[in-house]
Amino acid sequence: MSIDLVLLATAAEEMASVCNRCGLCQAVCPVYKQTGLEGDSARGKLALIVALHDRLTDDPSETLARLNRCTLCGGCKATCPRGVATVDAFLLARQALAEAARLSKGKRALLRKAFADPRRTATLAARFAAVQRRLISSSDTERVTLAGRYPVPKITQPFFTEHYTPKEGAVGGPEVLLFAGCLVDKVYPFVGEGLASLLTDAGARVHVPKEQGCCGIPFLTDGDEEAFLQAVKRHLALFATLSFSHVVTPCATCTHALKNLWPKVKPQLTEAEGVLVDRIAETVCDGGDLLVQLGSRESEPFQETGLRVTVHDPCHGRHSLHNTENTRSLLKRAGHTLVEMEQGCCGLGGSFGVTHRGLSLGIGEGCLARIEATGADVVVTSCPGCMAQIEALLKGANSRIRVLHAVEILENPLDSSGGS
Ligand code: SF4
Ligand code: SF4
Repeated sequence: MSIDLVLLATAAEEMASVCNRCGLCQAVCPVYKQTGLEGDSARGKLALIVALHDRLTDDPSETLARLNRCTLCGGCKATCPRGVATVDAFLLARQALAEAARLSKGKRALLRKAFADPRRTATLAARFAAVQRRLISSSDTERVTLAGRYPVPKITQPFFTEHYTPKEGAVGGPEVLLFAGCLVDKVYPFVGEGLASLLTDAGARVHVPKEQGCCGIPFLTDGDEEAFLQAVKRHLALFATLSFSHVVTPCATCTHALKNLWPKVKPQLTEAEGVLVDRIAETVCDGGDLLVQLGSRESEPFQETGLRVTVHDPCHGRHSLHNTENTRSLLKRAGHTLVEMEQGCCGLGGSFGVTHRGLSLGIGEGCLARIEATGADVVVTSCPGCMAQIEALLKGANSRIRVLHAVEILENPLDSSGGS
């Protein structure tokens, strides 16, 4: 076994060994709630990780398959009274197991091909869009189609980062670097445009570097730390050439990546890169957070719209960024009636939603039921991945409820009929 693997396994085992097996994490785990299997809870996964060295030589592929039954929602970490770094332990263990099994070679090559180079990502997305136009007949307003049980988000051109034209912002206002993320750039470009325009109206100057790409999370969840490191370094080289006071994203998962995950590779960065990664982590926030800070719309007369709106908090917003209030305060300020829903994972969890579609759908059905129970007209979220999953669920159920990104509803105020 290589030194790297031994170090990875030791670190993961140390994290897992803090667990005292109290079982409190079971109550919040969306996968465990579906299956009732101990091995699907954080406690069960940690028990596997405690003996990771043995598993690296005995059954790496089987153990990896068991650890992959997880949306990485972070609910267990947020709940754990012992403060076990569950998700960090899962990611380290996945990395070690993937190396040991050399199983994910094909998937890894595919992910690197699709996401490591932003120009190649754009070319592939454009080709996919052409195929979609030929094969899938969808209305202009339809943003997700269903291929059997799988949601297929509609690639929308022109892509946000290619198309964005900077607008004049207030002199002396915050210099905002907008990090779009893959889904907003390629599927929901109007969310990027909307956020840029709300921020500009609130007095910021918005910069959208065209060369930006994937935040790197798909590599990390696949155990490919090298590709993740390269994604971080590439963005640091880009950001180093720009002047900014804030980094803003319209995606809770990207915000989590830039704030909490990029700094984890600091030991492999130069000193200058380390300073920059810290500055990004300190200043990055969700678009809604900066809008609240800037007092966006505070001066506008408050008028009730009669629209009943509920909010789905993305897991990374709720558990990793502890950020749930600002979207609600902006929606209230826009005059909408907030109806709270019981929170929980939507079931997407990145590639988990594809590789474990049955489990993902089961978790999603619970989310759908909680949305429907509110009687809301619109469900709002601040994660494009959650949007795609919820849209597919609502569509599958022929629901009258619409899902919108927080930016959309703030930028295009709706009335009680749901029209602008
Ligand atoms: S809540 Fe924490 S300590 Fe308790 S079983 Fe889960 S991971 Fe272990
Ligand atoms: S991260 Fe979420 S899905 Fe994974 S074990 Fe923890 S609670 Fe369950």
